[in-house]
Amino acid sequence: MRFSKIFIATLKETPAEAEAISHILMLRAGYVRQLAAGLYIYLPLGLRVIERINKVLREEMNSIGAQEISMPALHPAEVWQETGRWNEIGEEMFRLKDRGSRDMCLGMTHEEIIAWLAAKEIRSYRELPQIWYQIQIKLRDEARPKSGVLRTREFLMKDSYSLDIDEEELEKSYLLHAEAYHKIFSRCGLKYYMVESDPGMMGGAKAHEFMAPSPAGEDKIALCDGCGYAANVELALSVPKKVEIQNWVFEEVYTPEKRTVQEISGFLKIDPEYFIKSILLISDNGPVLSLVRGDQELHEKKLNKIIGKHRQAHKEEVKEILGVEAGFIGPMNHKVRIIADSCLKDGVYVSGANKPQYHVKGIRSGKDFTAEWHDIHIAKEGDFCPKCNASLRIENTIEVGNIFMLGTKYSVPMRAFYLDKNGQEKPIIMGSYGIGPARIAAAAIEQNNDRDGIIWPKSIAPFDVEILPLNMKDSKTVEVAEKLYKLFIDEGIEVLIDDREERAGVKFKDADLIGIPIHIIIGEKNLKEGLIEIKNRRTKEAAKLKIEDAIEKIKSKIKD
Ligand code: ATP
Ligand code: MG
Repeated sequence: MRFSKIFIATLKETPAEAEAISHILMLRAGYVRQLAAGLYIYLPLGLRVIERINKVLREEMNSIGAQEISMPALHPAEVWQETGRWNEIGEEMFRLKDRGSRDMCLGMTHEEIIAWLAAKEIRSYRELPQIWYQIQIKLRDEARPKSGVLRTREFLMKDSYSLDIDEEELEKSYLLHAEAYHKIFSRCGLKYYMVESDPGMMGGAKAHEFMAPSPAGEDKIALCDGCGYAANVELALSVPKKVEIQNWVFEEVYTPEKRTVQEISGFLKIDPEYFIKSILLISDNGPVLSLVRGDQELHEKKLNKIIGKHRQAHKEEVKEILGVEAGFIGPMNHKVRIIADSCLKDGVYVSGANKPQYHVKGIRSGKDFTAEWHDIHIAKEGDFCPKCNASLRIENTIEVGNIFMLGTKYSVPMRAFYLDKNGQEKPIIMGSYGIGPARIAAAAIEQNNDRDGIIWPKSIAPFDVEILPLNMKDSKTVEVAEKLYKLFIDEGIEVLIDDREERAGVKFKDADLIGIPIHIIIGEKNLKEGLIEIKNRRTKEAAKLKIEDAIEKIKSKIKD
């Protein structure tokens, strides 16, 4: 491809609206443009990257026996009503009516459609297992589209679905996907972790996410270097640092207008980990008093699994239910259900005194209060691993893919049944597996860039190599450049030639910004000795080589 013919619009200035490095560089290097919030146009370079990622996706999916299909992006409401998700999902779903006033929606994902299809098509165990996939548009009215193509309202997804006769077979399909995902993300040059994750609105038994570390990521994961425990903080367990046992005797202390842990900790000169935070919640089954240590945050999702849907109580409710002013609640002498973080079992603490303007020092579990014990805190840096007790690290990551065991959540309501060997009707056991190609591209940039621009992993770069003829007015330069260009094409190497009548400095700058991994630099001085230069975009190292050796050298560089 010729630079003079392909539309590459690089920008000199950093666009004001962009914060994430991948967003800035994709705009500056001319890969994408934003149409509206969460809606992006892929320019030729951007689309080439996505296509290369999709090629990797197809190869690896095909290699586990998955079959490509294509499903509509526009869905009738009925299928979503049958599984109940029409009502469960809120504003994230784009809904509309067709000309006959029938309810429709734009597909956020395709479990319903797959289950519908399986219900129609699969009769017998002989037709199972199946893995069906597509690389197709998803539409979601995301609350906060952000960071360029990392979170958009319309995006491509490789989504695959496994259909199996039982849980054991599902386990196999799940493992096949995990293996394919490892290959995909490695081939795309990403650093990533596979972590335990929360099945969430997908429902189902087991789920893992593939997370690419990056400061731009919205997900935090907990990692143990000791035993390899890795989990999304959405469900990660952890053992907090133990507190020293204080020899305080039970006493009330006057703490005027000091309500938050921070305020009282400063006032009493006692570290936050010696406090009990008492938070009153209102669940569907009544009030629940939750207790976490002062240096911890209450984990809504963990609590959700124990008490179901809940919200924080209003000030008036606290007064009414506990008979105490918010800010001075303690866990002593209440009739409500109490759920406490397990770490509070040990230690001597400070908490509210259940009396305005007072706290108590010296309370301990067993003696002053009892509770149901659970891990209900958010894991944080410095906590210990729940499996091996080594230190946990917390990293920011981008979720690039995930795998879910769904079980029968969709097949039962959609009546996707099959007849087993004995002629008995059984529900098909499903799995669902997603990858966002745009997130792979952006994560690759997040992990591979320098101050001059993008450094693409070679497998997903828009081109394998860029030829830079420095002086287009020099006929020898042009002749050699054109000759190499044709040779590369004949060899099936994806090549970009910067054939613009621009100064060398401009060409170098654009080449670094765009980030093709190998540059071939053709300058008059070197040519006089029959030499050209080959430069590695990542290391910036350049080496001279004979023109006639160029093809072999590039071929070997692309391979290794
Ligand atoms: P997130 O938690 O980041 O919102 P998700 O759990 O909603 O992601 P899935 O519905 O499981 O994601 O989608 C599968 C894959 O699709 C994700 O792993 C991600 O790579 C991609 N993806 C999801 N939402 C978006 C989005 N808004 N923009 C771009 N890619 C997305
Ligand atoms: Mg989401």
